[in-house]
Amino acid sequence: MSRSAPVAPVAPPMAGEAFAAHKFGGSSLADAACFRRVAAIVEAQAGPCQLVVVSAMRGTTDALIALANDAIDARGSWRDDHARLRERHLVTAQELLGGSAAAIGWLDAEFARLAHLLDALAVLGTPNREAIDAIQGLGEVWSSRILADLFIAQGRACARLDAREVLRIGHGELGAVIDWDTSTANYTAWRAQHAQPWLVVTGFVARTREGRDTVLGRNGSDYSAAIFAALADARELTLWGDTDGVLSADPRLVPDAIPLAALSYDEACELAYFGAKVIHPQTLTPVIARGLPVRIRNTFRPAHAGTAIGRPATDAAQSPVKGLSAVQGLAVLTLEGAGMIGVPGTAERAFGALHAASVSVVMISQGSSEHSICCIVREADAARAEHALRRAFVAELARGEIASVAVAGGISVLAAVGDGMAGQPGIAARLFGALARCGVNIRAIAQGASERNISVAVDSADVARALRAAHSAFWLSPQTLSIGLVGPGKVGAALLAQIEAARPRLLRDHQLDLRVRAVATSRHQWLGEADDAAAWAEHAHAGDDLDTLTRHVQAEHLPHSIIIDCSANDAVAERYASWLAAGIHVVTPNKHAGAGPQARWRQIRNASANGARFRYEATVGAGLPVISTLRDLLDTGDELLAVEGILSGTLAWLFNRYDGSVPFSTLVHEAHALGYTEPDPRDDLSGTDVARKLVILAREAGVGLELGDVAVESLVPASLRTSSAEEFMRRLSEFDAAIAERHAHAQAKGCVVRYVAKLDRERRASVGLAELPHDHAFAHLRLTDNIVQFSTRRYRDNPLVVQGPGAGPEVTAAGVFADLLRVAASVGARL
Ligand code: ADP
Ligand code: ASP
Ligand code: MG
Repeated sequence: MSRSAPVAPVAPPMAGEAFAAHKFGGSSLADAACFRRVAAIVEAQAGPCQLVVVSAMRGTTDALIALANDAIDARGSWRDDHARLRERHLVTAQELLGGSAAAIGWLDAEFARLAHLLDALAVLGTPNREAIDAIQGLGEVWSSRILADLFIAQGRACARLDAREVLRIGHGELGAVIDWDTSTANYTAWRAQHAQPWLVVTGFVARTREGRDTVLGRNGSDYSAAIFAALADARELTLWGDTDGVLSADPRLVPDAIPLAALSYDEACELAYFGAKVIHPQTLTPVIARGLPVRIRNTFRPAHAGTAIGRPATDAAQSPVKGLSAVQGLAVLTLEGAGMIGVPGTAERAFGALHAASVSVVMISQGSSEHSICCIVREADAARAEHALRRAFVAELARGEIASVAVAGGISVLAAVGDGMAGQPGIAARLFGALARCGVNIRAIAQGASERNISVAVDSADVARALRAAHSAFWLSPQTLSIGLVGPGKVGAALLAQIEAARPRLLRDHQLDLRVRAVATSRHQWLGEADDAAAWAEHAHAGDDLDTLTRHVQAEHLPHSIIIDCSANDAVAERYASWLAAGIHVVTPNKHAGAGPQARWRQIRNASANGARFRYEATVGAGLPVISTLRDLLDTGDELLAVEGILSGTLAWLFNRYDGSVPFSTLVHEAHALGYTEPDPRDDLSGTDVARKLVILAREAGVGLELGDVAVESLVPASLRTSSAEEFMRRLSEFDAAIAERHAHAQAKGCVVRYVAKLDRERRASVGLAELPHDHAFAHLRLTDNIVQFSTRRYRDNPLVVQGPGAGPEVTAAGVFADLLRVAASVGARL
């Protein structure tokens, strides 16, 4: 990761000159309006001497390279593309300079010359470095002339400097090497002939010492700007582009990236080197030597101050990590074998071999066991690198001292950069934690001794997700959760409304961005983006394919995904293990997983052991903290002896209301109408629901119950168990007498009847009617209150009680929501 820094000589300034240097990128020069905007920006600058370096018009360099390749490959289409490029330049020039032949005749000549060059390439049919280099740089030649002529037409004393006349370079392993002596002498001579206070300079282009036209490498006009700022002894350099400065990450990968007010040279170098395209890696070498202040600003928002790059600025308020960048298109190369341990010189031989094969090494990491060396190289060099290593260690490979030389492509390196990281513990942990939580596997790690950069190699398929997760981890952008909801029934619908209402506050106060991106009923699905979630039902289409939903929820670009199952469907629970294994968090009030077959339950729990969270608080007691209370007891070393409680809000309500004066069936009808029961009230009255909750609680405490182990007293008469729901409701009154009898029996003893769930000290589980004295805690509940009593070693004589409203869509949804927020906190949201 070292860079050599060719140092610009500090030339004596010309008397009275103090240039402000600027560079306008291709995006700032897209069309005539852009040129005018640029002219206005330069016009508004303070100081008489302005030096303006320009890129080609947007897309021109790419177009020129494509033209050359098409000509070489004898694709005749280059003629049309050539005509289009010519037209675009002519139209721009005409619009800016008027239509006179004199004003734009030179452009015609230029394009005619280009056509000749391309014809020659087509005849040759092979790539010719010289011709391609010359062609690549033409865009800058044209754009600089258009801008200079515009300045002159506007009455400015302006000279155009074709960098090819001045700048002499060689091509080294690390890119262009500037011949400063010759270039300085050339510039001084040129300047002596051109005294105008404004200069427009062609970016990107240069000439070799042999006098051949060449270029500084892609995005090289930033470098041109720095070189000419040095040659002209400018007092400052501004690089004008289409972002509000250097952003905390590439905005195309991290939409929440924020502009950075200030960066040190070192930080900017690291970011640039690791792929932040906003600045060319070599740009800073000439300006650092002179301590020249650099600004990155937005042509389209000149009022924005942009990013100031200079000597280290200490700004305590800023995150220790300033920015993140990523280089894609890399490969990981590993050399492995016990024979390397303790053998001096292995690394040197390996890197020597790579050097000899002209392979540039992006990153190196070696474990202290010395059992393996791993380095990252460009994918294009990977095969050559592997070959070089195999040759260098041919003897060791034959003897088995080196077990393998392996190469794997599709790698990206993500770098976190910031001066503030030095000496601060926990930065790496935060980065690695963020990547782990979004399921990104780290292939290799490197941290320079400067501690200004931590680099991790990850699979390229993960890089966008990794960048976003890391970006949120350092508080540069909100934590984002991609949410899919299965089963938008009463609870699900209430949850959607609650999320919708809480979203702005969570985003503002907690930097948490909850994005509901999919909703599925058993027959319809909506897959979309959060902003449209409120109207999901209008856009849902027929379908029940949960695989499609899964893929949509686990979007590549969003670091964390979660599926909320508000269905009461066993088939959905069947999916949990695979969701969790894929890194998707699962939250549910659905009891089927918790009370289903134990083998499946264990599978789900195991799948949640490595990473993704599984939470199900709302399966028992709706929004009441029943399971979390039990977990806290157990996790702090307590032991559950017995549990007893009223676990059904529906049954609680029915028996709280029942005093013999109104028939039981009438109350069931009333509860049904109030939405207190399941659509088919037998689901409540059968006791199965209560039994499921008891099984969930028992399993939480390590008591491996199956649903069949619970003795269940059903309140559904045997003769009505298989009839339709309607018939059941119609005929329910036939059995009022039986309940009335139970009630009278209890009343005679001064007791009340309640539907109670119980796991006793002998691990016997039962749910059913119980006669309880009037002063019993269960006798005084209100409405749909649930109550759970935990008898534990610590709470042996006086059990710990959790009590409160335990039914209804709102409170159940709130319980699910709380689980959702806990998952958010576990992936790093600050709640
Ligand atoms: P120009 O033509 O102005 O030189 P480039 O296309 O070379 O522009 O590079 C600027 C682009 O780089 C921005 O529009 C942005 O999409 C991208 N970019 C990548 N990383 C960053 C970053 N950290 N900050 C700002 N822009 C970045
Ligand atoms: N026009 C050249 C390129 O696209 C140089 C630059 O814009 O910086 O690479
Ligand atoms: Mg650029």
